[in-house]
Amino acid sequence: MLNSFFEAFNKVLNAPDQITILPHPEEPMNSLATLANTNVMATIIKWLSDWEVPTLYWNYWKTAIDMQVFDIYPSSIIGMGLNQDTPSATWEASGKRHLVIKPKWLNSGVIAHEQAHNSYALLTPAQKTAFSAVYIPLKNTDPLIKLLYSKNAYGLTSDIEGHAEVYRYIGKLMPAQLTMYYPRLF
Ligand SMILES: [Zn+2]
Repeated sequence: MLNSFFEAFNKVLNAPDQITILPHPEEPMNSLATLANTNVMATIIKWLSDWEVPTLYWNYWKTAIDMQVFDIYPSSIIGMGLNQDTPSATWEASGKRHLVIKPKWLNSGVIAHEQAHNSYALLTPAQKTAFSAVYIPLKNTDPLIKLLYSKNAYGLTSDIEGHAEVYRYIGKLMPAQLTMYYPRLF
């Protein structure tokens, strides 16, 4: 529904430089969320639905991240260098993405970012190189990518983070020539 709105909006306005809202804006921190009232699978399903991931792949994505939600991080997590104020941490091990997160920051946009990394990991080295070649010039030409980086420059830290941030905030309205570099998400 959000995407349909944007497609209609873009068609009517026909002036993409005037777009000021990203298709998937950053979700505010939810100070009321706790482990007891947070449902991880519901958040994953909200992402699958809102980002319009083909249903064919839903089962795959439901298990692609090893995710642990903590009200208080245990000593094993603190030992990795986090403190109790760290919203989340992610890493890759044995070809799988691992995410520890506090409930306040668990939302579908965070899931979208992490799953984009999991999708990127499915690309061959040659495909990763090809992605960068297509993506880099779009940073200065695509209206939604330019808008994204004017609001939040985190994706400029590397092409891998850019790949994830473009998916998180722009989703299926990213430039069509990029979607082939997001296996199982389109
Ligand atoms: Zn990332």
